[in-house]
Amino acid sequence: MKIIDTHSHIEYISYKVQPDIVGTICCATNENDWDVLLDINDKNVYGAFGIHPWFLENINDGFDIRLSEILEQNKSAMVGEIGLDKYKPDMEKQIYLFIKQIEIAIKYKRPIFIHCVGAWDKIFQILKKYKRNELPIMVAHAFNGSVEIVKNLLANYNIMFSFNRPDDIITNIPDNRILVETDAKSNIVLSDIVDKIAVIKNNKNMSDIIYQNTMRVLNND
Ligand SMILES: [Zn+2]
Repeated sequence: MKIIDTHSHIEYISYKVQPDIVGTICCATNENDWDVLLDINDKNVYGAFGIHPWFLENINDGFDIRLSEILEQNKSAMVGEIGLDKYKPDMEKQIYLFIKQIEIAIKYKRPIFIHCVGAWDKIFQILKKYKRNELPIMVAHAFNGSVEIVKNLLANYNIMFSFNRPDDIITNIPDNRILVETDAKSNIVLSDIVDKIAVIKNNKNMSDIIYQNTMRVLNND
């Protein structure tokens, strides 16, 4: 099996540990991660740069300029992990940062990795302000939303859904929109996750399909 982990972090470069994983998308959570990611220089590690909604403290002035520069200088750099989390403090600042980073991703046309907990209504409000065709491909990481949210996302956006604990919601998602991720958890064995999805979807080809889906994100189409 050949799998690319679509969501990990710098502390767990999953492809080096799990034999079925051939590449790892590493999402930054704060500005320090950006430097680490830029130094990794490994063709199997794909970097996403952003500020995670849990890490709003100690954001340096000019973070947006720095993020723009990184994207400008690294054509394969993506944007993440960004988003909104209802259970974390300072929603106003979360929204401010999310919008800033979405706008940078739009400007440089890069894939976006979204962390959303209990805040899809707010994210829809924000995304509504942009034209459908100006938003890049988006990945809803560790997706656990409702069927209504799935329908809304599929109807309006170039969206992919990434899973580390697949459940029956997957029956509502087309095969070509499904991705898998460790979320930097060493106890998540991605080949098992792919097998589980293949059973839920009753499709023996899911591992190939998921690999192709990931390549679409990496190729930004
Ligand atoms: Zn994450």
